[in-house]
Amino acid sequence: MIIKYRKEPVKILGYEALLKRLPPNHLKRAAVKNSLNSARAGYGGEERLDRAMEYFDPPYSHQIIQDFSLPAPYKIQVDTVVLTQSGVFLLEVKNITGKLQFKQNPSVLHSILSDGKIKSYKSPITQMNETSMRLRMFLKQLGCPLPVTSMIVISYPSQIVEDAPATAHVLSVGEVNYYLSEMTQANPVLSIEELDSLGQQFLSAHQDYEPFPLAPKFQIDLSDIEPGVFCPRCLLGKMTKTTLAWECETCRLISRNAHVHALDEWFMLMKPTISTAECCEFIGLKSLDAAKHFLLKNGCQPIGSRRYRQYVRKPVIK
Ligand SMILES: [Zn+2]
Repeated sequence: MIIKYRKEPVKILGYEALLKRLPPNHLKRAAVKNSLNSARAGYGGEERLDRAMEYFDPPYSHQIIQDFSLPAPYKIQVDTVVLTQSGVFLLEVKNITGKLQFKQNPSVLHSILSDGKIKSYKSPITQMNETSMRLRMFLKQLGCPLPVTSMIVISYPSQIVEDAPATAHVLSVGEVNYYLSEMTQANPVLSIEELDSLGQQFLSAHQDYEPFPLAPKFQIDLSDIEPGVFCPRCLLGKMTKTTLAWECETCRLISRNAHVHALDEWFMLMKPTISTAECCEFIGLKSLDAAKHFLLKNGCQPIGSRRYRQYVRKPVIK
């Protein structure tokens, strides 16, 4: 049973917004583009695993959590967690192009591209060992004695894998169902009720990974980010405020809430706080009063004394 479903990662929207607001010749565009491409490839691979696991129907009780993250002190992100009465299984999807070679001492993953170029990645085995260790700490804190097994899932059959260490579980997407279904669950450690309650404990401990704001992460000066309200239809057109709504200068689309999206992008790109003056400048509102009204109406709350007042987004209640 799936108890948490995957959603499109918010960082994809963030990278897209950042590219839209960076000048065409900005030095950091290539780095942002790379991050966007790898986030899209990662999500594509995870969706392939989800589609394959739609047919997962093993002869034992289980709970599936897609996209699981724990905040500090554990700080882990797992693509898919499978909880059973006898063990916890962590699945990490790798969607890397080229021929994959697992190198030892030190552990790295090489991908050899068709033109012979080699790209080096942090070893997914080292990464999963670390994640398993931290998850064991979390289970210990819950008083749960289940063992943890991690698996690396290669998302495309065309990916050739070489020299995977015999001790590591490296599977293709198509093998996951069979592999998990065939496992013997002879000695259940938990009752079905305990398994259900463990699933609920995982869900309440889960916290979405927060990647924002992005500009400081790429060391992009905030003054390089183009302010304004962009058109949701033609994407690159700027909108100007009319008496009641916003109108695109390029395609003439009229929108009543395009400026709300610009506020979302402020928090994705710039800072976790916004002042009324910053709001006027970024969104193009005419007065501090209009900015205050707009922020309060769109999920922000004031913090700090009157003179240094800033607004933050209210945390989303799970
Ligand atoms: Zn437009």
